[in-house]
Amino acid sequence: MPSLKVLICGGGCAGPALAYWLANTGHNVTIVERFPVLRATGAQIDLRGQGIEVVKRMGLNDIIRSKLVDEEGTAFVDLNENIGATVLANKSGKGAQTLTSEYEIMRGDLIRIFYDATHHNVKYIFGTTVENFEQDDQSVTVRFSDGSSDTYDLLIGADGQGSRIRKAILSPNSQEPYRKLGMHMAYWFIPRDETDDNLSRSYLSPGGRMIKRRSHNETETQVYFFLKDDSPELPSIHRASVETQKEFWTRRFHGAGWQTSRFLEGMKTTENWYCQEVVQVQTDTWYKGRVALLGDASSCPSPFSGMGTTGSLVGAYVLAGEINRHADDLPRALANYDEVFRPFVDEVQNINVSLMKLAIPETRWGITILHFIAWLVCFLRIPELASRFSKERDGDWKLPDYPELNQKGEENRNIKN
Ligand SMILES: Cc1cc2nc3c(=O)[nH]c(=O)nc-3n(C[C@H](O)[C@H](O)[C@H](O)COP(=O)(O)OP(=O)(O)OC[C@H]3O[C@@H](n4cnc5c(N)ncnc54)[C@H](O)[C@@H]3O)c2cc1C
Repeated sequence: MPSLKVLICGGGCAGPALAYWLANTGHNVTIVERFPVLRATGAQIDLRGQGIEVVKRMGLNDIIRSKLVDEEGTAFVDLNENIGATVLANKSGKGAQTLTSEYEIMRGDLIRIFYDATHHNVKYIFGTTVENFEQDDQSVTVRFSDGSSDTYDLLIGADGQGSRIRKAILSPNSQEPYRKLGMHMAYWFIPRDETDDNLSRSYLSPGGRMIKRRSHNETETQVYFFLKDDSPELPSIHRASVETQKEFWTRRFHGAGWQTSRFLEGMKTTENWYCQEVVQVQTDTWYKGRVALLGDASSCPSPFSGMGTTGSLVGAYVLAGEINRHADDLPRALANYDEVFRPFVDEVQNINVSLMKLAIPETRWGITILHFIAWLVCFLRIPELASRFSKERDGDWKLPDYPELNQKGEENRNIKN
């Protein structure tokens, strides 16, 4: 197998996961990350189904398990904190996952694990990005933001939802390939208090508002605000200053009830603030010549799917497998990556948006009805029973085998706690 020189743009989850496989099988891999240091931030993310199987094949299962967030499940509360319904995590290792996955982990911890597993044989360049590139049948020549340039066999855009590599390979005047879900979210961390236990809480408020709180360590609690609103002017708020964003979310959630005042107070001083429009990335173009897209850049399924990180790890595994299988025929490798992985993406992006919107009602009356349905479903233990006795833990799409990747099974290599 020829050794390829590969540049990956983006050091989030997908980029380092691909680098892991390629560098461990003899390729020369560089990751260029726009952020000046390892961007080990973000809130709680989860791994499910095939994503868990991929980290096992990477040999990272033990180290990931040692960093899992201890979350028992999710409880739905009313204005007075009364729990109406509870869905517990399925930690039996059998059947499907529930709302809380068996593998909940802070994004920062996962990013650090991937970095620790790769930095000995992958070159990381921080504070730099791909300014532009040109390609022919033989190579891709990349010009970087620091003025330097280099030539590669392959360029991978793993630069997230707003990917610039994607913009460069799509037709010049095309719109961003976003499927907008009519939903916006913000999250931040506040000090944990004695009422914050390991059961996450979800609360609905009239006006299409939902609040979630979950705690991931002894001192911090995460707060999430979700807003159902598809007015066309709203997405611009995510490009405004943090101060303007906080004013907006404060105005829209003022008086929403439950612990809103505490959460808004904590928002003022938080050092972990993030807000975004909830979208899916849907494009037919995952590669052009020797440039390919991976992770959120190609196929973000949205945080509501719970499959963003899993999708990025499965995509990295399939892409690395196809590259190694056809290292002397990259056009074929990239075409196969699309053919093999696209059915998985179609499956996880298949979200019923109308149903999702019904779950965040506009009126107090709608909330009452929803609470009653949730209470009844949980009283009958339907979520637990459905997940335990579900035959399919992973959906219909099966993870392919790539013996070319020298998988590690349960063994942890090169990793220290
Ligand atoms: C800071 C941050 C916080 C997040 N928090 C959450 C969360 O709390 N919950 C959740 O479900 N998902 C979160 N996500 C998204 C989640 O990580 C992804 O949906 C998923 O893991 C897929 O990973 P990815 O590598 O494709 O994208 P990402 O994890 O978004 O990684 C993309 C990487 O590319 C870098 N990048 C972007 N543009 C360029 C460029 N032009 N040149 C070089 N590098 C570039 C980014 O800095 C980032 O490191 C977050 C993403 C980021 C970047």
